[in-house]
Amino acid sequence: MVVKPEQIGKPKRATLGYDVPVTLIRLTLLSLEEILEENAPLTLQMLGRSIGRSLGATTIDDIPRILAEMKIGLGKITRNSEDMLTIRLMECVGCSGMQDYNESISQFERGLLAGALEAASGSTVSIKETKCCTQGHGFCEFEAVLMK
Ligand SMILES: [Zn+2]
Repeated sequence: MVVKPEQIGKPKRATLGYDVPVTLIRLTLLSLEEILEENAPLTLQMLGRSIGRSLGATTIDDIPRILAEMKIGLGKITRNSEDMLTIRLMECVGCSGMQDYNESISQFERGLLAGALEAASGSTVSIKETKCCTQGHGFCEFEAVLMK
């Protein structure tokens, strides 16, 4: 079942408003990582994939707008061939500014991009993170393959 954003209700938060701090998202993801231990990467990818599918992307070109609207990051998608894409994510919600990890950690974002691409293209998507903010890059970058 794909949950649509419009199904989760409109929060009644007259004082606090609609948005929550990035810190809360990061603590959630890092706490899940700690709880899930070796199952964390795949579970976070699955979580991201499910959310990515529910964001309502109908075309690949629409994905950067959705990423910005949801404040996940500023996405730039380059089509390298008919079925290969490079997605650069600036200001990544999960890891921008985190330079102490020295390994790519964006499993959630990896899954989310796969889910959004799958929803938009109707293809199964294989995706890997090739650059991460945590490795000293100013962005995260992913290589995606659309498989029929
Ligand atoms: Zn990353």
